[in-house]
Amino acid sequence: MQQLANDLIGTESRLGAHNYKPLDVVLSRGLGVYVWDVDGNRYLDCLSAYSAVNQGHCHPKILEAMVEQASKLTLTSRAFRNDQLALFYEELAALTGSHKILPMNSGAEAVESAIKTVRKWGYEVKGVPENRAEIIVCSDNFHGRTIAIVGFSTDPDARGGFGPFPSGFRTVRFGDAEAVEAAMNENTVAVLLEPIQGEAGVIIPPAGYLRRVRELCSARNVVMILDEIQTGLGRTGKLLAEEHEGVEADVTLIGKALSGGFYPVSAVLSNSEVLGVLKPGQHGSTFGGNPLACAVARAAMRVLVEEGMIENAAVQGDYFKEQLAGIRSNLVREVRGRGLMLAVELHPEAGGARRYCEALRARGVLAKDTHDHTIRIAPPLVITREQVDWALEQFDAVLTGLPQ
Ligand SMILES: *Cc1c(COP(=O)(O)O)cnc(C)c1O
Repeated sequence: MQQLANDLIGTESRLGAHNYKPLDVVLSRGLGVYVWDVDGNRYLDCLSAYSAVNQGHCHPKILEAMVEQASKLTLTSRAFRNDQLALFYEELAALTGSHKILPMNSGAEAVESAIKTVRKWGYEVKGVPENRAEIIVCSDNFHGRTIAIVGFSTDPDARGGFGPFPSGFRTVRFGDAEAVEAAMNENTVAVLLEPIQGEAGVIIPPAGYLRRVRELCSARNVVMILDEIQTGLGRTGKLLAEEHEGVEADVTLIGKALSGGFYPVSAVLSNSEVLGVLKPGQHGSTFGGNPLACAVARAAMRVLVEEGMIENAAVQGDYFKEQLAGIRSNLVREVRGRGLMLAVELHPEAGGARRYCEALRARGVLAKDTHDHTIRIAPPLVITREQVDWALEQFDAVLTGLPQ
């Protein structure tokens, strides 16, 4: 059986672009917090496809909705209407308190859509002179992989070699509200940021930061855009991470777990003034708002709420973090996170996070190294206390160097 995994890895390596360096585990099945490889080994998934499977792998109710809809109608394009879109809008608006919704597919598309929309809002509503709109973004951001988005990334791997890039972005240090204020001028249309930076290594800004940015945006007639594609939909123990600071963004971006990992579904949420600038023909997507996506997302939202996953993320996350912080290991520099969005940052002398992720894998835990020294931990939100305890035993063993 080992042979099958090796063959598949060999074929991938021969035919695929090498834009990822995955752990060499070939998965063929998933259920809840667990995934199984082609050799039948079981793993506890502590990545959740970057928080796209918050509801757990192959959630039966989402699966049922998907199969049912797939056998009825999958795609109409927006040239015609379908009977799922209105219900998706209604349920998403009720869940998030939004007034207008733009359905897209990937997270990057939601970000691109927001950028286009706030620029147009800037010209038509705020009165910014044509082609002068500026958007303030943060250092170490991650918003996706399109040209406009990587153009304002500060990660050399993400942007290097891909220019030229669109202009109109100003970068300030993440977590520094004064820098946001200093970067604002009469042409500023929006501030775009992640409430907690996920890809940067689960970086939580200082308390009060989002509130201060909110005040600045309100005072200067600037749209506050929160990219909650990773932090949203329960990951941090609240529906949206903005709730931890009691703020409300003007534009909120969600994706990933909006479909529970079944299908790419994203959305731009806003008030009527901002999304209201889009008129027929000015923006679109063949697959955006398709009935299959809508039916899957409706089920994914429903189980998130009905099955108490958001509350569970808060409870298990607090416990997981506290217990991780209690592991006595001289490898660990810091344990941080909110809800089930956690990270263990190792000292540079530990020799890099990758080898600890390999060691965890050998013990049945799949976690992801990020930026050399950080292990990211983000299990599905359905994880139980017993499963957290079992995962903790494996982290303890790996971080205290017990023989495997
Ligand atoms: C994953 C992610 C994106 C991009 O989503 P894709 O679906 O991969 O395009 C954007 N922003 C944040 C914060 C993300 O975590």
